[in-house]
Amino acid sequence: MKPMSRPLDVLVVGAGPTGLTMACELRRYGLSCRIVDQADAPSGIPKAVAVQPRTLEVFDIMGLDEEFVANGRQVQGFNVYAGGQRLVHLTMDGMPTRYSYMLTLPQSETERLLTKRLSDLGVEVERSVQFANVAQQEDGITATLRHANATTDTVQARWLIGCDGAHSAVRKAVGLPFEGTRYEESFLLAYVRIEERAPVDEARAFFTPDGPVGLLPLPLGRHYLIIPLLKETAETDRTTVSLDELKTFLAQRGMASLRILEAFWITKFRIHRRIVPSLRVGRVFLCGDAAHIHSPAGGQGMNLGIQDAFNLAWKLALVTSGVAKPRLLDSYHAERHPIASETLIGTDLATRVITLRSPLAQAVRNQVAMFMSSLDVVQHRLAQALSGLVRNYRKTPMVGEYHRGFLGVVTGVHATAEPPGFSEWRKFVAAPAAGDRAPDGKLSVRGTGVPVRLFELLRPGRHVLLLFAGRGTTPARYRKLEEIEQGVRARYRDLIAVHLVVPQAAPTAALRWDGSRLLDAEGELHRQYGAGSECLYLIRPDGYVGYRSQPADAGRLSAYLEGENMKGHDKRLDSYIQQVRPRFERMLAEMVEQPSISMDPTHAPDIRRAALLAVQFLKDLGAEARIVETGGYPVVSGGWTTGAKHPTVTVYNHLDVQPAQEPEWRQPPFAFRKRKGVYYGRGATDDKGPALTALLAGRYAVEHGVPINVRFLWELEEEIGSPHFAEALRHKDAIPRPDSVVVSDTIWIAKGRPAVPYGLRGLLGARLLLRTGASDAHSGLTGGAARNPLAELCALVYACVDARTGRVKIPGFYDDVVPPTQAEIKSFLASGFQVNRFMRAYGFRTLRTTNPADVLRRIWASPTFEVHGLVGGYQGPGVKTAVPGHGELKISMRLVPNQRPEKIFASLRRFVARQNPNVTVEREGMLQPFRGVFKGPYADAIRDAVRAGFGKEPAFIREGGSIGAVATMQRAWRVPILLLGLSLPEHGYHAPNEYFDWGQASGGMKAFAHYFAELAKMGGG
Ligand SMILES: Cc1cc2nc3c(=O)[nH]c(=O)nc-3n(C[C@H](O)[C@H](O)[C@H](O)COP(=O)(O)OP(=O)(O)OC[C@H]3O[C@@H](n4cnc5c(N)ncnc54)[C@H](O)[C@@H]3O)c2cc1C
Repeated sequence: MKPMSRPLDVLVVGAGPTGLTMACELRRYGLSCRIVDQADAPSGIPKAVAVQPRTLEVFDIMGLDEEFVANGRQVQGFNVYAGGQRLVHLTMDGMPTRYSYMLTLPQSETERLLTKRLSDLGVEVERSVQFANVAQQEDGITATLRHANATTDTVQARWLIGCDGAHSAVRKAVGLPFEGTRYEESFLLAYVRIEERAPVDEARAFFTPDGPVGLLPLPLGRHYLIIPLLKETAETDRTTVSLDELKTFLAQRGMASLRILEAFWITKFRIHRRIVPSLRVGRVFLCGDAAHIHSPAGGQGMNLGIQDAFNLAWKLALVTSGVAKPRLLDSYHAERHPIASETLIGTDLATRVITLRSPLAQAVRNQVAMFMSSLDVVQHRLAQALSGLVRNYRKTPMVGEYHRGFLGVVTGVHATAEPPGFSEWRKFVAAPAAGDRAPDGKLSVRGTGVPVRLFELLRPGRHVLLLFAGRGTTPARYRKLEEIEQGVRARYRDLIAVHLVVPQAAPTAALRWDGSRLLDAEGELHRQYGAGSECLYLIRPDGYVGYRSQPADAGRLSAYLEGENMKGHDKRLDSYIQQVRPRFERMLAEMVEQPSISMDPTHAPDIRRAALLAVQFLKDLGAEARIVETGGYPVVSGGWTTGAKHPTVTVYNHLDVQPAQEPEWRQPPFAFRKRKGVYYGRGATDDKGPALTALLAGRYAVEHGVPINVRFLWELEEEIGSPHFAEALRHKDAIPRPDSVVVSDTIWIAKGRPAVPYGLRGLLGARLLLRTGASDAHSGLTGGAARNPLAELCALVYACVDARTGRVKIPGFYDDVVPPTQAEIKSFLASGFQVNRFMRAYGFRTLRTTNPADVLRRIWASPTFEVHGLVGGYQGPGVKTAVPGHGELKISMRLVPNQRPEKIFASLRRFVARQNPNVTVEREGMLQPFRGVFKGPYADAIRDAVRAGFGKEPAFIREGGSIGAVATMQRAWRVPILLLGLSLPEHGYHAPNEYFDWGQASGGMKAFAHYFAELAKMGGG
């Protein structure tokens, strides 16, 4: 199969910490990217060794923090000494983060961990590939790359990101100046092992008259020596320094006692402070050292670059997938440029202060340092500045907030029904504002008690909307929050995860809320967010507050979202669905008009025509397609391949239909008719409509760059029990094994109540035959002596099943049945099932039970024994007094997961032989039961997809019926199989006047498109 070429989303140049973070993030958001680096191998040198608390938080959201912490060393504080006296002591302890320390780790290790993560995400760094130039077009870029063998090639991508360090070729290619100067001073760095009496887990700087010496503890008992060199000693551009020279520098600064046992790397380099005037030129962005460089004083360089990448990646993802306005990307410069500029100023000041040369100036500096650091507030500020936690985007245009101002609170102007009091307002105002870093906090999932942190909620890469109930919230306010949740869900389903955060005592019992409820048992999050009264916080994927309001206000929130950034998913998909509607209707009409009745051999040519038409549909949409022959009717296989490393999903449907001879048809069953969004005709809902719905959703996903291979498998013998389906699956080239399957051939329980079945009953049919005579005999002449086969078969039924309760009496019949759990029954009951409706739908006068849970357990999760017919004797009007010569009992058993039809058939045969040795048992159809997944990522994805398509979460149910192909695929492939049905009971599966409707088709397209996107995020291949 030829992979379909799809434009590359992003080309990243440079595999330093910035480029690697960028590529990891782009992949986390599902964008395609390549990353190239001119070096033939990672540099392997320590360079930047300090990882700030904020960068650790970034790694936390990326799910990487544990690896970093495990590999690094935690440095709790920072001391400055002069003349044998401690001038400054800063501690990171008590910082409002889990990472209240500076983590030290050689940059080579940081790069190794990021490279490993990237590789796990399916991207390898392309080495010995040098970026040479770029040309920009309206919708993308063309980059020229030079290879080690001097050849060049071009790459097209939507965006180019220059993470190629201080000498950035990308920056030069787009003509950006690197404004700033070179320092007169230079820095000497040494990665060493020193003699230590006891390990010190704090950084130390020694101010000496000849200049400072810094000593930073690193993992493995090593240290980093940082020696700023004054002008006199910095005069050359030479970078190599010998160990003896290093010792000389130390001796000159009165530090000869610092014994170096081993030196792994020593370098001397000139430092600069430079910045570009713009972080973006068209479709080209600059991040990290390519955009700004400064003195290493304060260890900010690498941290800034990583945080640049973290800021830009989610914006690129939203804009590239079309759900955010392109101007969202402008906020990258607006937010990051001021921070880089401030860092340049701060590190410049620090460099000047530590390299002061005049003895007087040094003395003043030392005194001031000692005094200032004795003040708690100064200590705290300095530690915060080093941590990176206080950087914020408050003054940038993309963030927003609403609360009544001071006057409003005092005067009551603009008061809402229940305005927050002054103290609640004050707490809210003092809490993180829009643009601030959102602090992490511990919560638990209400109901299950599973602990979860806010940063963990950010890991899926979406915005998180926290709806704080506050204390003393009334039911009416809960309902308001509920409405906000529903509005956001409907519009931004997969983009914004909404959580209701309730304090312990909240009276939520009456709440109909079916979304996420988090319990803030210790009130930590309420405290941190000043949420004493109801409010909302929208947290961006990079962990900053995008918007907040007190009280929670749906209108303002949606104005913010609409106005500032997010169009929401719906519009693009909605407009696709509207556009594609005529095509869907045309295809459905053509398909319904093929009377592909598999049960009737005279329709064999129609089956073939339906298969050819299906192939044509696939090809018309740019997919590959073929007919796969079997010993019976063929199957159609086809789809789109977007990349070998992308996950592959196979969508199963069938295109054969039931006969349509019922006199109740109000129109010819194979003449398609469309009326007000309703599509009539045999097969419209079972299963041609759902098949074409999924097809068009697949096309949307692939055309919009979702990294997934979507395949379709359309059977033409489903209605006759899939006798050749297993054989078809043996054609592995034509029908490759996917990573997962989604089947769309099931019925909801009620309109507006989506249901996802995860279990299907199996089926075992049999005929029990008894011949006692050559023919019927006169009962007056033979009755009493003659055996009566019909009566004996009735006795056999009595032995097999209790007709009153339905309990099967065949020994061992229930051995393998696993009864449904209470949670499953609860989910069954949430499906919208109603006993009365069920009775009405099927015309029942009475049932064996009318308890809904019992009915559902019986029809979905229990095996049955049914008698379908008793054949023999006289069937005409009146009574003919003959003793039949033979009888035939037609029976079937519905089987549930874990029961094996083969084993049950053997039990039946044994039992019948014991009861009546003259009865012959002949097996009819046999279908395996199926139990799929209803928990875990696939189930979550289908739940989200249904919610996206139909605005409601589905109930996970089982189905009483059987789809043989499902169990066959499960046996053949052993991959997750999910059922995403679109039919409604009123559509009339197998009934006259069958129909499908546009509501289910359009919702289904959304649901399938969403499901494909969710699967793509899971990766695979
Ligand atoms: C000797 C030294 C010591 C340092 N010490 C510290 C410190 O103590 N503290 C601190 O905070 N910072 C320090 N820094 C700075 C810190 O290392 C950088 O801020 C950090 O590496 C920036 O990461 P980056 O990914 O943006 O760029 P880089 O790490 O420079 O990565 C750029 C990558 O791009 C590649 N590349 C360049 N041009 C091309 C091209 N045309 N095509 C393809 N690939 C290209 C390079 O091979 C490189 O792998 C030091 C830097 C140096 C050089």
